[in-house]
Amino acid sequence: MRYKKVPVKKIVNKIIDECDVILLVLDARDPETTRNRELEEKIKKMNKELIYVLNKADLVPKEVLEKWEEKLENAVFVSAKHRMGTKILRDKIKEHLKKNNIKEGKVGVVGYPNVGKSSIINALTGKRSALTGSLAGLTKGEQWIRLTKNIKLLDTPGVLEMKDEDELIISGALRLEKAENLISPALKVLRRLHDFDKTIISNYYGVEVDEIDGELLKKIGKKLKYLKKGNEVDLDRTARSIIKDFQDGKLNYYNVRIKKYGQERRRNIEFI
Ligand code: GDP
Repeated sequence: MRYKKVPVKKIVNKIIDECDVILLVLDARDPETTRNRELEEKIKKMNKELIYVLNKADLVPKEVLEKWEEKLENAVFVSAKHRMGTKILRDKIKEHLKKNNIKEGKVGVVGYPNVGKSSIINALTGKRSALTGSLAGLTKGEQWIRLTKNIKLLDTPGVLEMKDEDELIISGALRLEKAENLISPALKVLRRLHDFDKTIISNYYGVEVDEIDGELLKKIGKKLKYLKKGNEVDLDRTARSIIKDFQDGKLNYYNVRIKKYGQERRRNIEFI
């Protein structure tokens, strides 16, 4: 099959112009950072329906999801991977179309890289139509897929450009093994959590926090016993561990401990 490359901005603009409902996919582990206020304003000004889709909810404790639910208006939690929450999302779209008397509604999906846009399209359509992973921006040409009698979905997600390499690392769009500098994104994660709640880092790592800097990394590395020869703290390993724990949902905004994995995590999203 031949694919053609479509400029990413063009797809985002097309979605905003043509669609009635825009699904802004956020990473449920970090909804604040994966938001895009400028785009949200634009969508609202155009009187379009904006739904926040917090994906990867399987990686986030239930208690944390409940907090985000209080904070974000018009949010739906899903796990595209486990195909959970998609019915609620579909119902929300239907409800909007019905309320506004839209006979044939168009829906588009936008978001930063790696938040799970393609997975959501696939979960909604029940197909493997959208390309997941690193091939963002590639499309088989314009394609609207019918979800129901009244809903059409554009099978190509609008990829928002993330310019900051640190953010790509934190979101998992850039694999940790491929990243050169992990210290800067690790500090960003710590700063973000600390700004949100001053007790998170000390509770999680059992260290005292003065400043969010290299010294703090050293303290955390020492606690984790990540030492190199000569008892020097292995800062890279420490930084990797911080980012990994954040990505796994263990180190999170609401200071919730994940005790068990697997079943426990799946149960977290049954309520949504
Ligand atoms: P996109 O770049 O936004 O289109 O994201 P993709 O759909 O390609 O997904 C990016 C990565 O996140 C892939 O490795 C997916 O397997 C993973 N992913 C997508 N949805 C979920 C989810 O609900 N839970 C988990 N744990 N991983 C997910």
